[in-house]
Amino acid sequence: MKINVIRGTHQFGGNAVKVTSDSGSAIVLDFGAEFAVNGGRAIVAEGITAGKPGVLGVLISHSHKDHAGLIHTILPGVPVYMDRIAGRIYRTYSEVTGRPEAAAAGKMKALPPLCGKIEFGDITVTPFLSDHGTYRSEMFLAEADGKRLLYTGDFRLHGLLRSELLSGLGSLRGTVDLLITEATCAGRGDEYSTYVPSERTLEKSVLEFLGKSPVILFCSIINIDRIAGLSGLVKDKGGRVFVSWAEKRVIDEAVKDDAPPAAFYQNLSIPETYDSSLFADIGKGDLIFTSSFEDFRILSGMIPSAELVFTEWPGNLAHMNSAFREDPRFHVMHVSGHAHPAELREFAEFLLPRAVLPVHTSSPEKCAELLEGFRVLPLQDGEDFSL
Ligand SMILES: [Zn+2]
Ligand SMILES: [Zn+2]
Repeated sequence: MKINVIRGTHQFGGNAVKVTSDSGSAIVLDFGAEFAVNGGRAIVAEGITAGKPGVLGVLISHSHKDHAGLIHTILPGVPVYMDRIAGRIYRTYSEVTGRPEAAAAGKMKALPPLCGKIEFGDITVTPFLSDHGTYRSEMFLAEADGKRLLYTGDFRLHGLLRSELLSGLGSLRGTVDLLITEATCAGRGDEYSTYVPSERTLEKSVLEFLGKSPVILFCSIINIDRIAGLSGLVKDKGGRVFVSWAEKRVIDEAVKDDAPPAAFYQNLSIPETYDSSLFADIGKGDLIFTSSFEDFRILSGMIPSAELVFTEWPGNLAHMNSAFREDPRFHVMHVSGHAHPAELREFAEFLLPRAVLPVHTSSPEKCAELLEGFRVLPLQDGEDFSL
């Protein structure tokens, strides 16, 4: 089996990893758009975006643009796969936000359910549940030529699905030849986990605010895990949950199946679309989600009693003017979607892989330090590695 990281050994996002069996079957794991800070470059790759189709499938781990955002540039003869519901959510999200890959997202094929197998020539792939704050983020086990690799996509161990993630992977312990892991936070130091809250800490803080006032909470449309989790808690306490039409449309895609795919979603209260008349009797215990900076600002003016909780990456605060950010009701509580440094170590010690390849990181050498005792591969983009 041969591994080639098309992009991602030395940068965040824009991931693409090619896996080729000895007989020549090939697949690609993720096909993401670069963040603007890296230049926003396209991927030009023979057999994937140029020439004749040369890979049997491109598999997308989750619905973030830095993993899925270039699927519209893939040759028409190369099928793209994603979890069935995550794919539908991605298509809806792309439509709502006007992203260029919306049409390609609508044509994606469905991966089998978690732990089901799918074959691409002599490469067998099994999706496993991850936890990243987007609905049904997945890790992929790829097996060929008697070798096994696990590709994590993006993940963390401080989210709502930590125990499901670890129990799902338990049978792989000590059997994986190569762990291709995201290492976004590898360079951030051990103290990182002391000032970045977990999802449970965020829930606790929001419930404390809700005990005294309504809360307007800013989070991404596709952070459906957080929306679903908090909605269930608010519903249990008799509160109401509101979201704007865009969030509602995306959430509906997640829950419209007859049989909800995870018990987690059975707590989701289907929210109402908001308009000004709904807020006449807004009070403590009521929670309003928005993913729009404009709505966040307008709602904060309409409901002066509300606490304002911003849960996205603090770098996005630049979208808001400073007067708004200095409002005493305004709180930043960013929960990272990525494994803290100590969690990268914990995960490697849990899985016990024979070798580790860090991707989605600007600090692969820091990851090697964190994982002292493991064989960490110093690979460059475009370089072949034979497993
Ligand atoms: Zn990512
Ligand atoms: Zn991500």
